[in-house]
Amino acid sequence: MKNCIFCEINRHNIPSFIIDENEYAIAILPKDMECFWHTLIIPKKHFENIFDIDDEYLQNFILFMKSLSIKYKHGLWATWINLLNANGKDAQQSIPHLHFHLIPRFPNDAMDVWPKFEKYNWDHKTDLNKIKNLII
Ligand SMILES: [Zn+2]
Repeated sequence: MKNCIFCEINRHNIPSFIIDENEYAIAILPKDMECFWHTLIIPKKHFENIFDIDDEYLQNFILFMKSLSIKYKHGLWATWINLLNANGKDAQQSIPHLHFHLIPRFPNDAMDVWPKFEKYNWDHKTDLNKIKNLII
């Protein structure tokens, strides 16, 4: 897609810090890292978000993320991994090209990457039935 920074990175038209890539995905270190070895994982083909990626492509993309996560765990001694993602404007997606943030985790890294929410006191029976009726 024109004017998409991630598509330009995928075409190697913009210099970037490429960690790994295959025909489905590329992993880069962002110019401004949010934390130690924060990595962006981007599909090679332009999909705006999880809602418009086709299933077969998604499977190959997820396998790339899994492979990179294993490499970080074994090669970089990350003990665990966070994979963060946003889909759409109201979900605070910053760039309209599907991407995930891989956050390598280490013992005692003192990071809390989990979003802070207002507690929602839900009615276990009513809410469960409402949601199930709406989505199934
Ligand atoms: Zn794009």
